[in-house]
Amino acid sequence: MGKVTVGKHPCPECGGDLQWNAAKQALACPYCGTIVPLSEAAEGVGDGSAGVVEQDLLEALARLQAQETQPPPLPPEDARQGGVLGMLQSMAATPQAQRGYGAQPREVQCQSCHAISVFVDGKVADRCEFCGSPSIIAHESLGDAITPQSLLPFRVSDGQVRDAIRRWYGNRWFAPNRLKTAALTDTLKGMYLPYWTFDANVAARWTAEAGYHYYVTVSYRDSQGNTQTRQEQRTRWEPASGSLQHFFDDELVPGTVGVHPELLQKIGNFPTSSDLKPYSPEFVRGWTVERYQVDLRQAAQQGEAQMQSQTRALCAEQVPGDTYRNLQVYADYRNRTFKHILVPVWLVSYTYGSRSFQVLGNGYTGEIAGERPYSAWKIFFAVLAGVIGLLVLLYVMGMLQ
Ligand SMILES: [Zn+2]
Ligand SMILES: [Zn+2]
Repeated sequence: MGKVTVGKHPCPECGGDLQWNAAKQALACPYCGTIVPLSEAAEGVGDGSAGVVEQDLLEALARLQAQETQPPPLPPEDARQGGVLGMLQSMAATPQAQRGYGAQPREVQCQSCHAISVFVDGKVADRCEFCGSPSIIAHESLGDAITPQSLLPFRVSDGQVRDAIRRWYGNRWFAPNRLKTAALTDTLKGMYLPYWTFDANVAARWTAEAGYHYYVTVSYRDSQGNTQTRQEQRTRWEPASGSLQHFFDDELVPGTVGVHPELLQKIGNFPTSSDLKPYSPEFVRGWTVERYQVDLRQAAQQGEAQMQSQTRALCAEQVPGDTYRNLQVYADYRNRTFKHILVPVWLVSYTYGSRSFQVLGNGYTGEIAGERPYSAWKIFFAVLAGVIGLLVLLYVMGMLQ
């Protein structure tokens, strides 16, 4: 089990806490501006993927199960004792080193979209950074969150993402000007989203009926009563079977509730199997971290469902012939491991009317996806201009005749 770094890495000049700087791709001191390359930073800060650890999934699920079968909390008169006891039990269930975010995190939960934001050593925002709602309340975590084991540090700076959002906006007709303002002002937020990744070796056997097409000539009578022939497709079914071995590397399951899922799918991949860095508070200090709300068990189920459908698709590819039916897959998943990781996104969120809209940028690749309202006024005037244009055209044509 890898060591989780929660130590501080002070600025060599002034002793301040270093923070990750996306534009410089290095740690920077927010107080005196000193830049410290990642490779020279104090030991323990992520400097390669060597420290990225996978954890045994079944072991972790069994630990969660054991936690739940503990006796329920004691009645109110013993509430204090029960609370402490419960806390100790939950801490004992997972090694303390794998809990919490390091440093002094503070958590707030949005009453509107329910996202929980974690601020490591940072100033807590006064509005929800996901939906802009001002109703946020402190969230008591009791240190029960599983620490991210690794993360992708920001690679796209705020300046780069602003340019990309401006280009994205430029291609959107009929969007209200309010969107452009939102894209250009200070509502752009950099945040780390929680993800689960799952690995497994699958050994699968399959059986199916393979279908081979062939063609027969059939004769029929056309409407004039003449005999005609045509080719018709038939299928011959033969039993088939096979097996396959496959390694699933980093099946990703998002643990976010703050970002709209359709947008996440559109901003493309996060290269988690090659570019992850071991978690260290320097990377997240000064950025917002969303606490996962899809827990390990739910995520593991979803990850397994993703693997099953891919395994089925891989088996289906192996079935010979032109088509297949009755595909049965018997799959055995071994060496199942997981990681809890953070990935970087840039987010603009704004409300228009009563709805909340988001524009999302991949903090690693710079890809942009967004939602936007259509401006009723812009559409109205465009239609009006079209109608006037048509009337003018008809008038001119009338004059020419
Ligand atoms: Zn400094
Ligand atoms: Zn919110």
